[in-house]
Amino acid sequence: MSRTRNRNFPWWHQQFVDNGYRITEPRQAILKVLNKTAGHLSVEDIYHQVHKRYSNIGLTTVYRTVGLLENMGIVRKLDFGDGRARYELSKGPQAIHHHHLICKNCGKVIDYKEYLDNELKFVNKVEGLLEKKYNFKIDSHQLSFYGLCEKCK
Ligand SMILES: [Zn+2]
Ligand SMILES: [Zn+2]
Ligand SMILES: [Zn+2]
Repeated sequence: MSRTRNRNFPWWHQQFVDNGYRITEPRQAILKVLNKTAGHLSVEDIYHQVHKRYSNIGLTTVYRTVGLLENMGIVRKLDFGDGRARYELSKGPQAIHHHHLICKNCGKVIDYKEYLDNELKFVNKVEGLLEKKYNFKIDSHQLSFYGLCEKCK
């Protein structure tokens, strides 16, 4: 757990200020859930968590807010191949660079943080080539490996 310098202002406040967005109660509530859970949540998961404490916040608001956070680059949208989008924080003290191993049978998702040095060498090289070839500015990437977990294989 990392300490925040000023406990009255969570790390995401500055992101909102920089993007010119207001810090509203639903935005705060949703970010608190994402920050606390540090997992992969669907919009419905987030909604259920938020709804426990803020019964006035509806599913539509959660959808809209998650979309906004995605556009701001605060959350990342993930596809685990089950037709249901999941979200995780891509910024803040909890957001450590990692990728996913996804079991196609039981749906287990492993966050792995190993071998990042190897990955970085490879990814940097490919990104450089792609940026040149397509005149495209890359600012992030996702890697997911699909297969069978220890239990299912
Ligand atoms: Zn990576
Ligand atoms: Zn499995
Ligand atoms: Zn993850």
